Amino acid sequence: MKKNLDTICIHGGWKPTKGEPQQLPIYQSTTFKYETSEQMARLFDLKDDGYFYTRLANPTVDAVARKIAALEGGVGCVLTSSGQAANFYAVFNICEAGDHFITSNNIYGGTFNLFGVTMKKLGIECTFVDPDWTDERIEQEFRPNTKCFFGETISNPGGNVFDIERFARMAHRHGVPLIVDNTFATPINCRPIEWGADIVTHSTTKYMDGHATQVGGAVVDSGNFDWDAHQDKFPGLTTPDESYHGLTYTKAFGKGAYTTKLVAQLMRDLGSMASPQNAFLLNLGLETLHLRMQRHCENAQRVAEWLEQHPRVSWVNYAGLPSNKYHTLAQKYMPQGTCGVIAFGLKGTREDAIKFMDNLDFISIVTHVADARTCVLHPASHTHRQLSDEQLREAGVAPDLVRLSIGIESVDDIIADLQQAMEKMD
Ligand SMILES: *Cc1c(COP(=O)(O)O)cnc(C)c1O
Repeated sequence: MKKNLDTICIHGGWKPTKGEPQQLPIYQSTTFKYETSEQMARLFDLKDDGYFYTRLANPTVDAVARKIAALEGGVGCVLTSSGQAANFYAVFNICEAGDHFITSNNIYGGTFNLFGVTMKKLGIECTFVDPDWTDERIEQEFRPNTKCFFGETISNPGGNVFDIERFARMAHRHGVPLIVDNTFATPINCRPIEWGADIVTHSTTKYMDGHATQVGGAVVDSGNFDWDAHQDKFPGLTTPDESYHGLTYTKAFGKGAYTTKLVAQLMRDLGSMASPQNAFLLNLGLETLHLRMQRHCENAQRVAEWLEQHPRVSWVNYAGLPSNKYHTLAQKYMPQGTCGVIAFGLKGTREDAIKFMDNLDFISIVTHVADARTCVLHPASHTHRQLSDEQLREAGVAPDLVRLSIGIESVDDIIADLQQAMEKMD
């Protein structure tokens, strides 16, 4: 029976039968027992499904991965130890030394660094493009060795909305998959696969967990990209893998080729797997994701509207506002709401922004976003504090930018806290 997202949030992934625990159990075991040597050998040959070592697969982790695959409408999902590991694996699974890929430049700082600095050291080159450029301008960046295109549904921290359909079409014209980081929208508000994305990634640390309890990531495969049709570009998937007795992933696993390779090679060799305990915590978060996202969006919309008319506020960036540059795209891809993260500017100096934050009562100053508690960060005095105002602007961060992540408390209390903190600035 096909189910709605709200039901998948609760029932997806774990289906207990007679006498089994109703809640997903934590299989806190590194290893799994077999009766014969032959049984174990078949697992190592990837001929049978089954568990043997938690670095490669674990029943708790798998159940949560199945839930996320169902929420995104994918054929398979692999959980990772962080969002960073998810984005690294998603790209590294199809790119190797000498290859190239393209990314939108509206992406999370950690991903920016991973792509521009660390992957470069592995011999993989990345071109950053401005999504505001014309198709013609962006398409000039595709090369014969380009292997994928990357973007974020809603960028962190800028809040820019990625035109998924447009970039899927562009990537496919050049025979490569589109990878979309869907962390901020979550599948409740946007399902990138339905708009043509081939692979979807997540930092599950954010809304999916929702309570700031675990760091984790996910890579979801749509199963839609035809690797065999572009055999020359993706030999890792379409030609025999000597480290697996000459097995060819697309032949042996069909639509499961990409995720099987990711586990069989990258998890085996690099090992950034999710722990069973963290997968359990993530699953508890997922059980209420549909309720929380709705509340995050309702609250953020009210706060964004309130900020926009406040005399102390110089600008507000929230795609839910009709005045926002991305409002039309947001309505197309996320008609029910975008997310709870708002960026805004406070009139005055850096010191004024600091005073404002120090005046806050329950809204907390933390390096985090997207959980149940409303929190605030001022990049100029925190993550980017070593930079001058001039350097900040060059890095695309306004010195007055305050990032507010709206939680699920009473919106009246959130606004009252912001109000009193602004009043105390005088
Ligand atoms: C936080 C974040 C990441 C990195 O995830 P971690 O779980 O912190 O490693 C990647 N992408 C986006 C959009 C994020 O917000």
